[in-house]
Amino acid sequence: MPENRRAVDVLNKDDLILITGAGGFIAGSLTRYFRDQGFTRIRAVDKKPLGEWYQRIEGVESLSMDLSERDNCYRAAEGAVEVYNLAADMGGMGFIENFRVECLRSILINTHMLEAAYQAGAGRYLFSSSACAYNIQLQQDPKVRALKETDAYPAFPERGYGWEKLVSEIFCQEYWAERGLKTFIPRFHNVFGPHGTWDGGREKAPAALCRKVIAAKDAGEHRIEIWGDGSQTRSFMYIDDCLMGMDQIMHCDDLLATPINLGSSELISINDLVSMIEKIAGVELERRYKLDAPRGVAGRNSDNTMIKRILGWEPSIPLEVGMESTYAWIESQYQDRKAGKKTIS
Ligand code: NAD
Repeated sequence: MPENRRAVDVLNKDDLILITGAGGFIAGSLTRYFRDQGFTRIRAVDKKPLGEWYQRIEGVESLSMDLSERDNCYRAAEGAVEVYNLAADMGGMGFIENFRVECLRSILINTHMLEAAYQAGAGRYLFSSSACAYNIQLQQDPKVRALKETDAYPAFPERGYGWEKLVSEIFCQEYWAERGLKTFIPRFHNVFGPHGTWDGGREKAPAALCRKVIAAKDAGEHRIEIWGDGSQTRSFMYIDDCLMGMDQIMHCDDLLATPINLGSSELISINDLVSMIEKIAGVELERRYKLDAPRGVAGRNSDNTMIKRILGWEPSIPLEVGMESTYAWIESQYQDRKAGKKTIS
């Protein structure tokens, strides 16, 4: 059994941890994760004004800065021992199919952030890559073969967003090869959970479907619109597994500069996901399929052979367990918004 190391095993509690994109879903949760473990010097950075961050965590240095600007990256990286770069202009299929230029421009963030981390003498650097980096020709069947790490090449990733991830991965690999900066490259497969975007156009399928079910129930309208024909399949990883996985990958030297899947291997169709949410909500809705809506690839799953071999671990929180808490959280956001209170979306 491999001996997995985590930040608590290798860092001093007052080592400076930089987390970018911390006004968003995953990096905000990562900030809380490290704060809860007693790290006393966490620098959280996001380009959104502080009042719009999804989570503001006490005791954390929170800075609003645009990290596509080189000087801001240098300022952010000053003194950092570890850098978790999760900042990116991103969203669900509705966003990444319609805003490719914005997605591509995230290349500036990782390019400047890597150099700034290197110049600052950071010990470790994590880049949040994505399953969208995989060759889309291998994802044309809902009964997809799970994607293994080598399936990114020959390269044919998602236009825009996927290409940015693939090229940024290469930057990370070369910073290790040529300059000795220890880089780590998890490829996240759909992450969901409380504190994620749930409305406004950037939300992903699990949150969007929860919101639609909640709204239908609330309005007494027993109908739901589904993007595509609902046969498309995906796996969804609960946020707690994502945080645990990032921490272990970042501290495993066998994974230096090596892209690795970080995702659940529990495959589900969108139709079955809707049924799961209906069960949680206690309703049954008539389904209307919007066939011309963005739907992404036909099928995508994570092959976890490599992560199990190297870490002896894989994301394993059952989808239904994660969906229950996500549904409850989105329902409370929905009610808060109705009551005129501040919400994240
Ligand atoms: P998110 O949109 O909630 O968070 C990203 C944050 O980055 C946002 O708060 C945004 O304001 C910030 N940002 C964008 N441009 C910036 C800039 N120029 N300077 C500073 N901050 C900037 O998204 P998330 O779901 O938390 O995703 C985090 C990372 O994980 C991203 O890199 C994303 O591509 C990757 N990822 C996420 C998923 C997923 O399912 N959520 C899947 C694969 C990869």
